[in-house]
Amino acid sequence: MLTNIDMELTLEKELYGFDESPELGVVPKKMHAYVIRPDNHGHPLQSFQEEVVDVPEVGFDEVLIKVKSVGINYNGLWAAMGSPASPTLFHGKDFHIAGSDAAGVIWKVGDGLVNNPGFQFQVGDEVIVHCSQSCGLCDECNGGDTMLCTSQKIYGYETPYGAFAQYTAVKATQLLKKPKHLRWEEAGSYMLTYATAWNMLFGYPPHDLKPGMNVLVWGASGGLGTVAIQLIKLAGANAIAVTSSDEKGERCVELGAKGYINRNNFDCWGALPNTEDKEAYSKYLKEVRKFGKAIWGITGKGVNPDIVFEHVGKNTMPVSCYLVKTGGMVVFCGATTGFNLTMDASYIWMRQKRIQGSHFSSLKDLSTGNKLIEQQKFKLKVSNKYTWKELPQAHADMLENKHTFGNMSVLL
Ligand code: NAP
Repeated sequence: MLTNIDMELTLEKELYGFDESPELGVVPKKMHAYVIRPDNHGHPLQSFQEEVVDVPEVGFDEVLIKVKSVGINYNGLWAAMGSPASPTLFHGKDFHIAGSDAAGVIWKVGDGLVNNPGFQFQVGDEVIVHCSQSCGLCDECNGGDTMLCTSQKIYGYETPYGAFAQYTAVKATQLLKKPKHLRWEEAGSYMLTYATAWNMLFGYPPHDLKPGMNVLVWGASGGLGTVAIQLIKLAGANAIAVTSSDEKGERCVELGAKGYINRNNFDCWGALPNTEDKEAYSKYLKEVRKFGKAIWGITGKGVNPDIVFEHVGKNTMPVSCYLVKTGGMVVFCGATTGFNLTMDASYIWMRQKRIQGSHFSSLKDLSTGNKLIEQQKFKLKVSNKYTWKELPQAHADMLENKHTFGNMSVLL
């Protein structure tokens, strides 16, 4: 039984460790968080610093989440490195808490949601947080595509308070019910890559994924790639996985890819050579065609990919644009190896190819896609699990491409 003195101590406690918790709904003043400061951008082991900071205020249309697990993504890495720009320039604060994927428990509900019949949650509910915030007022948010809202922002990258903390304030529109069968480390790990891959594959008709299609998947063993392989298989289409080792390639085949290609057996990476340098250009094209033949070894002679699933950027974009079939689509959502993308334009117009930029997913599409998770038709791959203390190391592993297979998560 608590004495009055104990109760006073409990009430006065400002900060809790990771092995203790206030009662459900009691919000402490302070929290542990990984904070990036603009004068400390660089290697993730340097820029992610653990600090004790104020728990964020909960806005009118927001909820406070007690975080149970977070996902590790490139967003955190770009934020840590301040590359291409410090995220503090996007939101104007002098600090940044990264983290664009989370799962946790609703701890407090904003005043505007309490009696709102459209708000389907309450304190204590277990939820997943997705990373897109939009205004909710414009025509794109009401019948259009929330990603086309001019106020759209990626939480944890373009907003100051992301998920790498004990508590995070998020918009009510960022919540999904946590599927009961998911473990916490799974629940917080997948939405960013899952929804992005879903949008890349299904979001751009008439080039949307259909049974029997062939899709070349770069970085097939990574977060986006492992999702893409499974979605392609579920749709009755063929994933051709590209990896940097045979071991990773074989795991991709186990996951559902039709075949794999080890990119280290080829040498056609980087920016397109000068097309007027006949010798260099024909040497380069010879090597690209060798890579193309390896694709035919999986798809059949002369059968080029209907879709190329791109995110590697500078090093692979010229090859993607050359090898996608006539009338096919190169869809890309990032450029890990560099933003200066080159291509031989003559192959684009003569062969009427589509180059499509893609960014996360609309709320409607991600909740449609999430049904496969809810119905357990899609198996999450979380091979890289870390503790809170290892969060900077998780980003260092991602930077050095040392992570093994699938998504990465940190359990708090
Ligand atoms: P990831 O888990 O690290 O996977 C990326 C994969 O790319 C790696 O597993 C690696 O596989 C491959 N790769 C690395 N360097 C390469 C190179 N030089 N050439 C060819 N392949 C290379 O990362 P991810 O979570 O899938 O994200 C990948 C990219 O997509 C990042 O740039 C990220 O910012 C972007 N992204 C954008 C969005 C969006 O909504 N816009 C969402 C998610 C991700 P191998 O070494 O085996 O080839």
